[in-house]
Amino acid sequence: MSATTTALGFAISPSTSPVAAARREEILADPGFGNFFTDHMATATWTAGAGWHDDAVVPYAPLVLDPSAAVLHYAQEVFEGLKAYRHADGSVWAFRPEANARRLARSARRLALPELPEEAFLASIEQLVRADEAWVPSGGESSLYLRPFMIATEAFLGVRAAREVRYLVIASPAGSYFAGGLKPVSIWLSQDYTRAALGGTGSAKCGGNYAASLLPQQQAAEHGCDQVCFVDAAERRWVEELGGMNIYFVHDDGSIVTPALSGSILEGITRASLLQLAADAGRAVEERRVSVEEWREGVASGRITEVFACGTAAVITPVGRLVSPDGELVHGTGGAGPVTEELRRTLLDVQYGRREDTHGWMRRL
Ligand code: PMP
Repeated sequence: MSATTTALGFAISPSTSPVAAARREEILADPGFGNFFTDHMATATWTAGAGWHDDAVVPYAPLVLDPSAAVLHYAQEVFEGLKAYRHADGSVWAFRPEANARRLARSARRLALPELPEEAFLASIEQLVRADEAWVPSGGESSLYLRPFMIATEAFLGVRAAREVRYLVIASPAGSYFAGGLKPVSIWLSQDYTRAALGGTGSAKCGGNYAASLLPQQQAAEHGCDQVCFVDAAERRWVEELGGMNIYFVHDDGSIVTPALSGSILEGITRASLLQLAADAGRAVEERRVSVEEWREGVASGRITEVFACGTAAVITPVGRLVSPDGELVHGTGGAGPVTEELRRTLLDVQYGRREDTHGWMRRL
């Protein structure tokens, strides 16, 4: 963004009061998701004219924000989510972090925030994981979830792009999502509310999209569902995505279909990776529009044999039921179908270093 920005190294200022090793091990034994945070965080500040500066990895601590900070009023904010995985030899790796760096830059552009250079994003992740290496769990499908985000911190109530912005990365140990085996989720088809419209912010990873999804998510829960599925805003006919995951349909000929990037859905990195891995395995893959009618008819006729959702947090989740005011559609027999299982295993094997990384997706931290 600014020509004055020099390379950001995110030098580490170690915490003088880290969590005791015994307590950390207790947390790592059963972290759940998003409950605990490591000893450090990465931070950098951007000011109009001066570019990025004051980059460092510092002790994890609450932020001091002016009550008039723009993010608190106008939600000028973007974020990312990726994981660090410990391999069997103890080394720690990130999965396609360059893709997260690029998506953060695209999101930032849409929200009129400054773009963080890709090398700076990668340095922030590397340095934070270096400082908090002991927090990367091992075993099962555990990982260290990384949450980079950027917020408008300028103390000003006028509605315009902020001239002071902060970038941070926090980290949170995550346990196996499906400790008790792959449990299919049920989804509620949101017909009253949409998530995003063409020209809006749907393809950006910004907090506002998630704020807008909370009420439909509550409705999903009221109908006994785990997740909400959104359709397009114009015709309310085309399947878009879930509140925090993309969606895939498996056909009886072994092909897989996912809604095309419409401009209002998030370009998931798991989604893109599965298109590639499925094609590598010789499957036909298709990105196109999928209507709710096609979904219903496909399940009824047997043409659609499996449905699954995908994203960084849960990797791949089988979808067991679609619920809407028009009725209920049951998929499969209550477990994950064979194609869902195969794709999930293949992706996890790449991420955990058990399979050759033929696309160069893993980056050692
Ligand atoms: N859609 C939405 C709305 C999401 O929040 C996420 C999670 N980032 C995804 C899809 C999946 O994206 P990814 O595979 O990059 O995690």
